[in-house]
Amino acid sequence: MLELESFKKLLSSPKKIVITTHHKPDADALGSSLGMGNYLKKKNHEVTVITPSDYPSFLYWMKGNDEVLNYEDKDHQEEITEKVAVADMIICLDFSCLKRIHELGELVRDSKAVKVNIDHHLDPEDFADFRYWSTEAAATCELVYDLIVKMGEKDLIDSDIADCLYSGIMTDTGGFRHPNTTKHVHCVTAELIGLGADNAKISRLIYDTNSVNRLKFIGFALSRRLVIHTELNTAYFWISKRDLKKYDSRTGDTEGLVNYALSLDGVKIAAMFTERKDGVKISFRSTEDVAVNQFAAKYFDGGGHKNAAGGKSDLSLKETIEKFEKLIKDNQQRLLNQLELVNEKH
Ligand code: 5GP
Ligand code: MN
Repeated sequence: MLELESFKKLLSSPKKIVITTHHKPDADALGSSLGMGNYLKKKNHEVTVITPSDYPSFLYWMKGNDEVLNYEDKDHQEEITEKVAVADMIICLDFSCLKRIHELGELVRDSKAVKVNIDHHLDPEDFADFRYWSTEAAATCELVYDLIVKMGEKDLIDSDIADCLYSGIMTDTGGFRHPNTTKHVHCVTAELIGLGADNAKISRLIYDTNSVNRLKFIGFALSRRLVIHTELNTAYFWISKRDLKKYDSRTGDTEGLVNYALSLDGVKIAAMFTERKDGVKISFRSTEDVAVNQFAAKYFDGGGHKNAAGGKSDLSLKETIEKFEKLIKDNQQRLLNQLELVNEKH
């Protein structure tokens, strides 16, 4: 494992650097990737940002977005394979388990490049030569900021980089509302605003850029697709392929929906089941006293943070929901106790 000094030394001469992040990148994933990418470009490195999939259009304003290569785009697969193979360094941001970047994971694993992992998720896989990792951090963007400061290069953070990094911290703290919103988070965001981050513009671009279809979809989901089990402290949404088609759903349109389920009084566990072409994608959210990441890992091949996790299922939408309901019903007390016990450990 490399130390910070060796990492710094590696970056003291121009390198071919690939930056990648998790499937369906959110603002923290893309913001940390482009924030880091723009910073490394200023240090004269040749940087390529690669995503394993597309991402929401409300992130397209970030500097460097136009040059991002999406691995799902068949026209780019050959170029991406080549870039990964010849890279001197590959920086993996906002994930710590190579399966989260799907087929790209094996390309990264096989590459001779120095591998760097900057992340804030639990249980990192042991694939990196240099790791800058902390589950205490609210966002990977916060860690990228801390790392640049540690490298003694805060002066390289311009307003574009500050915008990227601010975005991820804003969204991973749920707009500075979740318990991960620490004093350090506020100090970092204050610094980023001082460095030129336009916080009002960023909130508008990320939170207040809805299409009519998306608003109608949210209305439909709230009235027709929300199931509440008061006695189980649980509420969930189920969204079918047909629903997504009917509302011409775009990547990012379902983001945040699950939080409405959690906002109900008495609900401790919220979920959203979305039927996609490659199976059912599940989002879990919980109140502070319950840890959903262990639940997602144990039953739905997923993981994540204590109060925000995800998973998947190869069963049908109906069967997945039945499995979830059964798990919650059969084990309600044990589950809540168990989750609370797990919670105490972290
Ligand atoms: P979301 O529900 O917004 O898609 O994901 C919430 C959090 O759960 C993400 O920040 C990510 O950490 C985690 N997550 C989502 N899907 C998966 C998954 O399939 N596997 C793992 N390990 N984590 C996931
Ligand atoms: Mn994150």
